[in-house]
Amino acid sequence: MGIFTEQPHLFINGQATAPADGFFDVINPATGAVFAQAPQASLGQLDEAVAGAQKALPAWGALSYAERGAVLLDIAAAIEARSAELAKLITLEQGKPLAVAEGEVQGTLAWIRYTAAQDLPVEVLEDSPHKRIELHRKPIGVVGSITPWNWPVMIATWHIFPALQCGNAVINKPSELTPLSTLLLAQIISDHVPAGVFSVVCGAGALGGAMSGHKGIDKIVFTGSTATGQKIMVSAAETLKKLTLELGGNDAAIVLPDANVAEIAPKIFATAFINGGQTCAAIKRLYVHQDLVAPLSQALADIAKQQIVGPGLDPSTTFGPVQNKAQYDKVKGLIDAAVAAGGEILSGAQTFTEPGYYIQPTVVVNVDDHHSVVTEEQFGPVLPVLAYTDIDDAIQRANALSVGLGASVWGSDMAIMHQVADQLEAGTVWLNNHAELAPHAPFGGWKLSGIGVEFGLDGLKANTIVQTKQISR
Ligand code: ADP
Repeated sequence: MGIFTEQPHLFINGQATAPADGFFDVINPATGAVFAQAPQASLGQLDEAVAGAQKALPAWGALSYAERGAVLLDIAAAIEARSAELAKLITLEQGKPLAVAEGEVQGTLAWIRYTAAQDLPVEVLEDSPHKRIELHRKPIGVVGSITPWNWPVMIATWHIFPALQCGNAVINKPSELTPLSTLLLAQIISDHVPAGVFSVVCGAGALGGAMSGHKGIDKIVFTGSTATGQKIMVSAAETLKKLTLELGGNDAAIVLPDANVAEIAPKIFATAFINGGQTCAAIKRLYVHQDLVAPLSQALADIAKQQIVGPGLDPSTTFGPVQNKAQYDKVKGLIDAAVAAGGEILSGAQTFTEPGYYIQPTVVVNVDDHHSVVTEEQFGPVLPVLAYTDIDDAIQRANALSVGLGASVWGSDMAIMHQVADQLEAGTVWLNNHAELAPHAPFGGWKLSGIGVEFGLDGLKANTIVQTKQISR
């Protein structure tokens, strides 16, 4: 694996940098065994990255959007040239099948290229004989990006490139569980931007906490759990950092009685079990009209049984392992608890064959809204199917939790689907789909699912600070 056959470096202020605090282990979820080492950044190295970022800011911020966009396009080309290596690293440390990792890299390229074409020109709010008022959007400064382990390269891309395009300097901390693919991405970025504009530091939550409280960091963009997002908000309070937080969800999908089961079953399976269910905006609670519960849950179970669960690098694998042991234990525990409470698994018996973290995609029926498999975000390969008879009841149950990232409605009558969709409390509502994201469509959570949005013009603006210029004549 190129540079990763040896102990990899951090990239700080444009330099490949040896870690001041040694190395930590990285586990391959397909085997449960350590397969590589990652460099642990010290707090001193974080300070160096921040100082370098502050030094680099004026020149980088003074470039035009088009000039920075050109740099982003060069980075995209360089990533594309190493896409096979990057995808393989994603699979090795994250677990997903190689084809899915290749899709992640392709998505990354699409997002960078979209971002590279964006601009936030000065807006003229008034231009009268006595006065001109202009709205300028300035870079915020140093942006700290803290990323999770489910889509490591894709989510780092969502954080890093809009911030760079707007003239900020960025310091990224990947998840300690999946640092290696981000280090390769970081090496490529580092090679293309002026020293200090981008750095990567590796480490666990304590380092993320240090970033959240750092006096030299002006904004934190974070994707991860609600609990960690809340801690970040607390640490960020003293320095009043700007925050974009994309946190956990527990997305509901509502299937109306006129839905075509044969048509929707593959799509519901794909969007519930995307990335082994380890996706913020995957379907995690499926509310189905009583008349369709039996055929739809059976259709989903049939698709689940067809999956070939195995190591992501094996070309026959369609379904990879859960990324880490803690998540594996959690999902297993939720399945066991559902069964203990009378839930029925339709997708077949399974043997849990550690040391790899394999769980067969699991469809559960005969559970109700109070079971932990429904109230807790599973973030793994298990989907509860819940019956309803009255649509208002389904809407109320979909909205009952304290999170609101995504939601969806499935059916045939568009007018009714819109009526239902308009009552759902979520940042994104899909009609006959779920989990699909687009670089031009703002994405963010309501309630405990987050603050702010990413993507599109609204997402881009979150990387800027407004300065109003009042010109008297
Ligand atoms: P999970 O999704 O497994 O719950 P988290 O949301 O805790 O993961 O982690 C996502 C990212 O947040 C990781 O990069 C992790 O190191 C980081 N992190 C964990 N704890 C903290 C913290 N207290 N402050 C800042 N970042 C943290």
